Amino acid sequence: MNAAHWIKSFTLWELVKGHATTLRYFFKPKATINYPYEKTPQSPRFRGEHALRRYPNGEERCIACKLCEAVCPALAITIEAEPREDGSRRTTRYDIDMVKCIYCGLCQEACPVDAIVETPNLEFSTETREELLYDKVKLLANGDRWEQAIAANLAADAPYR
Ligand code: SF4
Ligand code: SF4
Repeated sequence: MNAAHWIKSFTLWELVKGHATTLRYFFKPKATINYPYEKTPQSPRFRGEHALRRYPNGEERCIACKLCEAVCPALAITIEAEPREDGSRRTTRYDIDMVKCIYCGLCQEACPVDAIVETPNLEFSTETREELLYDKVKLLANGDRWEQAIAANLAADAPYR
């Protein structure tokens, strides 16, 4: 062992260097955030949990054209429909298997009336697979809950479409 090695060992040089590095980063701005109390900015195009929207008068937007079902590459959407008494066409069943979904956003792009959308919500983890089988009631409830954020995101993205 030469002298330099001996001095480094004797003064615990590696330990001192380690502490100096810790001290240097201690006073620097933090790269991490304290999630879930702090959140990073989110794009208006963020593709999160799905929702079915209504018009302001409460009527469902979906006209049961089934374009979303046809375009879905994961075959995650199942729709059944029949005409109402007033002649309008509405879904009687609208299911999304969120386990199959790959969040590609094609359903949203295909929809002619902005009915099926992906909300900014990313906090919808569950403990069972069954809870991720969404039906029409769940999707409409999501739409009611997130309508303000959805409308704001669509408006922010509109100039680029
Ligand atoms: S986001 Fe893509 S995979 Fe998911 S339901 Fe829509 S089209 Fe299907
Ligand atoms: S959500 Fe849109 S694309 Fe899908 S069936 Fe309804 S109107 Fe058609």
